[in-house]
Amino acid sequence: MRQGGGVRIDLHTHSSVSDGTDTPAALLTEAAAAGLDVVALTDHDTTAGWGPAGDARPPGLTVVPGMELSCRWFPDDQPPISVHLLAYLFDPLHPAFVTERARLREERLSRGERIVAALAADGHPVAWEQIVERSGGGVVGRPHIARALVDAGVVASVDEAFATLLHHRSPYYAAKADTHVLQGIALVRAAGGVPVFAHGLARSRGRVVDDAAISAMVGAGLLGLEVDHPDHTAEERAHLRGLAAEHGLLTTGSSDYHGSNKQTPIGACTTDPAQFEALEAAATGTSVLRD
Ligand code: AMP
Ligand code: FE
Ligand code: FE
Ligand code: ZN
Repeated sequence: MRQGGGVRIDLHTHSSVSDGTDTPAALLTEAAAAGLDVVALTDHDTTAGWGPAGDARPPGLTVVPGMELSCRWFPDDQPPISVHLLAYLFDPLHPAFVTERARLREERLSRGERIVAALAADGHPVAWEQIVERSGGGVVGRPHIARALVDAGVVASVDEAFATLLHHRSPYYAAKADTHVLQGIALVRAAGGVPVFAHGLARSRGRVVDDAAISAMVGAGLLGLEVDHPDHTAEERAHLRGLAAEHGLLTTGSSDYHGSNKQTPIGACTTDPAQFEALEAAATGTSVLRD
């Protein structure tokens, strides 16, 4: 614990291993500089940052190996809804989970290529090969396409790229065949991890699921809800807190830091230490990295 304040815990960040801009090492430096005591690395669909983060961990900083799994919920009467599942402290070698992550990364490549082809066909000067090259072997997502649009002078910022060309209702948008969220939850649990529904009611990001969907997720083994997230309004947080109490779920808070791909600073929202303790106690797949 740091002098003059409580323990500060941020359980959701992205490095350059997926669509953040800091290397895992730089992200940990940033976390320590921001006065965090605990930080989770939760890149999209990959654990490739765990090793580098373990090697670079500054003394005094606790690092939680995690991931954000790309999932979908299938409502009865509407198209699938994109949902993100945070997964903490799972066994990174669990075979079925390894296979599913690899499938998702392949899916990202074919879908990214389709988005870029549609943009290029309309005269936007972006090239898929360059985007893949710039990702440096990391997991490719729309933020990489947004960067390319900024570099080409089409838009002034990543935010503008999302607001104009890359949002989910854009004619250029293509969906991915993400994991069924109930299957994702089961995989995380089978691998000894702790599944937490990420930014579950953030309407600014697109359509969101109803309470019945969250009940179904609880039935499949969901253990927590991310409540304090920069994209949640006060009302959305209150509703999620109520659901967590009703279902006996733990609650988390985080920044969803993406380096300079987003405005949000690391540590913008944080997790209650008692909730983090419960999360760690529920995991059997991997250990937290600490002094
Ligand atoms: P994808 O996983 O390829 O569908 O892209 C989704 C990612 O884009 C999210 O994880 C965020 O990192 C990023 N993103 C979504 N909306 C925005 C936005 N308005 N501004 C910047 N980044 C965004
Ligand atoms: Fe992201
Ligand atoms: Fe997310
Ligand atoms: Zn995220």
